[in-house]
Amino acid sequence: MFDFCDKVLNYAELLGASYADIRIIIRDIESLYTKNGKLENYSINNIEGFGVRVICDNGWGFASSSNLDSSQIEKTVRKAVSIAKASSKVRKEPIILSKDPPFQDRWASTYLIDPFTVPFDNKLQTLLEIDEILRNEPSVKIAEGYMEFRREHKYFASSENARILQTTIVSGAGYSATAVGNEDVQTRSYPMSFGGQYMQMGWELVESLKLKENAQRVASETAALLNAKEPEPKVRDLIIGGEQLSLQIHESCGHPSELDRVLGYEENYAGSSFITVDKYRNLHYGSHKVNIVADSTLPNGLGTFGYDDDGVRAQRFFVVKNGLYQNYLTNRELAYTINEDRSRGCSRADNFSSVPIIRMINLSLLPGDDKFEDIIAATEDGLYVDGIKTWSIDQMRLNFQFTCQIGYLIKNGKMIEMVKNPTYQGITPNFWQSCDMIASEEYWKPWGVINCGKGQPAQVMMMTHGAAPARFKNVMTGIVRH
Ligand SMILES: [Zn+2]
Repeated sequence: MFDFCDKVLNYAELLGASYADIRIIIRDIESLYTKNGKLENYSINNIEGFGVRVICDNGWGFASSSNLDSSQIEKTVRKAVSIAKASSKVRKEPIILSKDPPFQDRWASTYLIDPFTVPFDNKLQTLLEIDEILRNEPSVKIAEGYMEFRREHKYFASSENARILQTTIVSGAGYSATAVGNEDVQTRSYPMSFGGQYMQMGWELVESLKLKENAQRVASETAALLNAKEPEPKVRDLIIGGEQLSLQIHESCGHPSELDRVLGYEENYAGSSFITVDKYRNLHYGSHKVNIVADSTLPNGLGTFGYDDDGVRAQRFFVVKNGLYQNYLTNRELAYTINEDRSRGCSRADNFSSVPIIRMINLSLLPGDDKFEDIIAATEDGLYVDGIKTWSIDQMRLNFQFTCQIGYLIKNGKMIEMVKNPTYQGITPNFWQSCDMIASEEYWKPWGVINCGKGQPAQVMMMTHGAAPARFKNVMTGIVRH
C-alpha cells in the first residue's frame, strides 16, 4: 500500500504541490438492529478508498476515489491540485503548517476477541434474549437492540516522509425500552443512549457490559417513569450521573474548544465559541475542582489513536486545569494562529472521502475524591439525573438546557422519589464554577459517543468522555409551564 502512496505523493509533487498527504482507508462494519423480537436490520459494509490533500501555491486542495486501482491516481491527484490552485487565488493569509515531525510507525488498538470471528447467531441471540426480558414488562411496547463492530486499516503518508499504518477494532452494543401508558411515553436505554456503549475493544466488551443482567431493571424503570411526576421547577443542588455528564462535557467544553470554531472558520451545528482567543488563558471556566483533559492515548477510547490525520502523534493535555481554561483543540493548519509551534493532534476525518478537520479527541472530567454515596448524603435538597434524552445549546455554547431520562429527588441526604423528564439549565462557566463535589475514580467510567456531527458536508465522528457523577450547586431545574 505504501507503494501506492509513493506514486500519489510523487505525482502531486510533479504537478507542483509543496505539500501532499494521502490516507487510504479499508473498513468493515457489521451492524445488527433488533426490534420487538425480530431482526429488523443486518448489514455488512465494506468501504475502501483514498483521499489526497495538497498545498499548491497558497491553497489547499482535496480529492478522493473509492477505487484503489493505480489507474485512479492521476485523475484524483490532478483534481486535488486544480482545486488547490483555484483556492490559492482567493486565499489572503499564508498557509503555515506547524513544525511537527513526520513518523514512520505502526499502531493498533487492543482487543481480546476479534468480534468478526464471533458467529452471527451468538450476536442475534444475545439481543433477542434481552428483547424478551424487556417486553415481559406489560407497558414496554417497543424493545430495541443494537450491535456494531468495526475494523479499520488506515495508511497515512506525506511528502514530509511520514509513513503510518493504524489498525482499529471498535465494538458496540446496547438496547432501549419504550413504555406507553398513563397518557405518556418514556424511554430508558442501557448502557447508554444512541445504540449503547462503544469502545475500541473486541467482543469482550459485549460480554463485560452485563447487558442481560440489567434488562429487568431497565424495563421496570421505564414502566415506573410512566407514573412518576415531573420535578417542580426550582433552584436546587444537582447531581449529574456519568452518562449525562459526558454529554455536558461534549457540548459545553468540547465543541467550544475546537480552534476552528473559536476562529469562526467552522460554524455549522451551533458552531461558534464563547472561549475567544483574547480571553482563553484568563478564563475561569469552572471551580478549582474542575479538571478536563483531552487525551488521544486513553486506553480503549473512541478518540484514541497513534497519530491523527495530519500524522501528529497522540497526546494528553489539560483543557481545563483547576478551573482555569488552558488549551484549545488544534491541528497543523491552525496552531500558528495561537502562537503554538506544534499541533495538539486533533485533526480527524470520518472517511477517506472527507477532509480532516479539527475534531474532539477523548475529553474527560478527571475524578474527584468523594464517594458517590457521600455526595448524596451531603445534599439537603437536590435532584439526581442521568440518561441522555434531549438537549439544546446556543451558538456560543453558553446557554444550555438538558432533559434526562430519569431523576430522583433528594431530601436530607436521601433519594426519596423517582421523577420523569428532569430538566436543568445553565450558563456554561457559571455552571462549571458551581461544581463542588466530584465522585472518585471508582465511579469514573468512559462513555462512548458515536454520533458527533460537524462540518459541511457533515462528518460523523466518535470519541469517548470519561466522567464520574458530580454535584453542581444552585442550578435551575424543572420546566416552568405557562
Ligand atoms: Zn458533537
